[in-house]
Amino acid sequence: MLMDYHLHTRFSFDGEQSLEALCTRAQALGVTHMAVTDHIDGPTHYGLLDIQDPTAYRQAVDAARKAYPALTIHRGLELGYRVDYWDETLRRIEETEADYLLGSLHLVEGLDPYEPAYFAGRSRREAYAAYLDALEDALDHLLPRVQTVAHLDYVSKFSPHPPLRYEDFPRQLDRILQCIIDSPAALELNTSGYRRAPQGLPGDDILIRYRELGGRRVALGSDAHRESDVATHYGKALASLRRAGFSAVCLYGPQGWQEVSLDALTLPPEEICFPGKL
Ligand SMILES: [Zn+2]
Ligand SMILES: [Zn+2]
Repeated sequence: MLMDYHLHTRFSFDGEQSLEALCTRAQALGVTHMAVTDHIDGPTHYGLLDIQDPTAYRQAVDAARKAYPALTIHRGLELGYRVDYWDETLRRIEETEADYLLGSLHLVEGLDPYEPAYFAGRSRREAYAAYLDALEDALDHLLPRVQTVAHLDYVSKFSPHPPLRYEDFPRQLDRILQCIIDSPAALELNTSGYRRAPQGLPGDDILIRYRELGGRRVALGSDAHRESDVATHYGKALASLRRAGFSAVCLYGPQGWQEVSLDALTLPPEEICFPGKL
């Protein structure tokens, strides 16, 4: 058994893989449960960062479910929260008949921390504080609806500074983590962090605090935008979870989240072949 609950296709503006290629790759890696989570981010200076044809998306996932019966495929969306696009976001959920929602924050004061401009003229602390303030607002809207909070410390992913640490904003992070724990949503361990840095999103310290506060629901996702990133760095992610005291991750089904032992997961071959990387 293996899950990947954060995956993009060409239905996203930045996705490089077809849904068929994604499913073929996922199946070859031993993935059994997955969510296609293409972007709903609204209009930006890059253009409209949304699924352009919700009907085609709906039909494509239906077709994939038929073509890959061994895979449990959720028709998901990654909701990039923004106050000025929330009504439209809610419409997209209905139009696509999505059954799995990731809650994300990609824009802070109109800027994506992906862009160097976000960090220009701000100290590390100012850049991270602005992100966390916006995240608290976003979670007020996202948490009642989403299955998972994605990449909690997204601001760290492209940051020129050392990543966000729990000790930087302990009271605010406690508030944020407690809100997630009190909701039905899981916290994502996003393995895309390992593609740029030696830690996932979030890192060990925030995972440890999440667990200390009572958090138990963790969802694994690679945030792959291309085939070669599907379900990657899972060995490192599982090692991080074990260091934080977790012995299980979550599987999403009709009854909501249920725990599955880390020992029950079958990692993709490259992670097995290179245990030294753990
Ligand atoms: Zn994202
Ligand atoms: Zn994503």
